[in-house]
Amino acid sequence: MHIVPEARIAELVTAEAAFTAVESVFAAMASGAAYNFPVVREALGHEDALYGFKGGFDRSGGALGLKAGGYWPHNLERRGLINHQSTVFLFDPDTGRPTAMVGGNLLTALRTAAASSVSIRHLARPDARVLGIIGAGHQSHFQLRAAAAQRPFDKVIAWNYHPEMLPRLGETATALGLPFEAVSLERLGAEADVIITITSAFSPSLMDAHVRPGTHLACMGTDTRGKQEVEATLLARATVFTDEIAQSTSLGEAQHAIAQGLITQDAITPIGAVINGTHAGRTSEGQITLFDGTGVGLQDLAVAQAAVAAAIAQGIAIEVSV
Ligand code: NAD
Repeated sequence: MHIVPEARIAELVTAEAAFTAVESVFAAMASGAAYNFPVVREALGHEDALYGFKGGFDRSGGALGLKAGGYWPHNLERRGLINHQSTVFLFDPDTGRPTAMVGGNLLTALRTAAASSVSIRHLARPDARVLGIIGAGHQSHFQLRAAAAQRPFDKVIAWNYHPEMLPRLGETATALGLPFEAVSLERLGAEADVIITITSAFSPSLMDAHVRPGTHLACMGTDTRGKQEVEATLLARATVFTDEIAQSTSLGEAQHAIAQGLITQDAITPIGAVINGTHAGRTSEGQITLFDGTGVGLQDLAVAQAAVAAAIAQGIAIEVSV
């Protein structure tokens, strides 16, 4: 089997490669060629850690495996390590033999940013020029870089619950050659053509009334029961897409609109159906489209596969016998 260490991922997987891998696995999920296994997530009762597994099988792409990992809240203060830790394990679907062990931390950010950028490519108005971001944490920088490749944006505007974090996001925008402005939520909703939400909030920041017709939203932060970034009534006004319907309705942004009876599961479309051309996606200029990106194991396997292929091609993969 091959080992690809975390430290080598940055030189092996570009945002473009992550985009291609995630777009094709979303398509495979929608066509029935790929499926995710039930997610396991446990509070360990040790170091206050949350640990779990996200796995799946993509028959068309040949990816079988899982991402194991979670959240260790004291890593940074006690050990100087990042709090989110994960590793991807791949297996040969013909034999069950392990084929690869791949550092999963950077891959998680790349595959999450790829998911929202896939939604922007397929659902945002072609003339979108103002990118709005709600959130300024670790993931927001990857989100901004991936989104910037999808439309010729001429400006980035952003809001964050902790405003002191925004200047760093501004530096990422500047590095991309994009003017950046910290704005109120009212201005963000009134001016942005595309809005990415990437926070760990448990109550909505962006309200229905903030959002103007024609906007595309990629709601990426809500990946757990109870989390929420946008007002539930917005999902009733929008055409809702997701990576996986079962996650969207139970732990994604749609969980609240479903629980309040504002929408039904039938109103939510897998983004892969748009990629495959079996759903029209955006059909009018004034339509609000909303992608509920919950994060699935198959995304991790897809980008890990890309990392292994690049590592073998470049002679970076460490080969071991097991
Ligand atoms: P982070 O801790 O680096 O940043 C957290 C962000 O949330 C910051 O912008 C912070 O200001 C904001 N925030 C904190 N409390 C808030 C509140 N009460 N109201 C509004 N905003 C608040 O985290 P990160 O690594 O950037 O991750 C952001 C979110 O994305 C997390 O919820 C994480 O679980 C989620 N995530 C989702 C996926 C996916 O596939 N959908 C993948 C990775 C991470």
